[in-house]
Amino acid sequence: MTEIALSSLYQQLILEHYRKPRNKGRLPAPTVVVHMNNPVCGDDIQLHLAVDAEQRVTAATFLGHGCSISQASVSMMTVRLKGKTLDEALALAERFTEMMHGSREAARDRTLGELRALQGVSKFPVRIKCALLGFDALQEAARRVRRQADGPAGD
Ligand code: ZN
Repeated sequence: MTEIALSSLYQQLILEHYRKPRNKGRLPAPTVVVHMNNPVCGDDIQLHLAVDAEQRVTAATFLGHGCSISQASVSMMTVRLKGKTLDEALALAERFTEMMHGSREAARDRTLGELRALQGVSKFPVRIKCALLGFDALQEAARRVRRQADGPAGD
């Protein structure tokens, strides 16, 4: 047993994303870049999104380091984001957050794809923040893109 007793199939999937992260790197011309960290665990994520005029995510990449939960979560998240509108991306974030807070219904939702491998983390409160870090960055990125789209803002 490792520090977290997840089912072995899910554990493998998490480690696979941790060792071979998808979409890791910078975007040449990101619409928005959001940096988030989780000092409790030492996780660090920089999310890069390219969003077109219809508010659709055309590319999503990340840079980062930290525990396997945080890095696998953001890797899996970037896989799900491509082609989604900001509304759809935020719905995914909401669904994932529900799963992290123990919703069994959310844990069965196929729209989460491989992210469902992280459902066991909901039983370990100190690690939930690790799993949510990439989604926190996504929510902040969506807010910034919308602020830009709303025209010149005061801040
Ligand atoms: Zn962590």
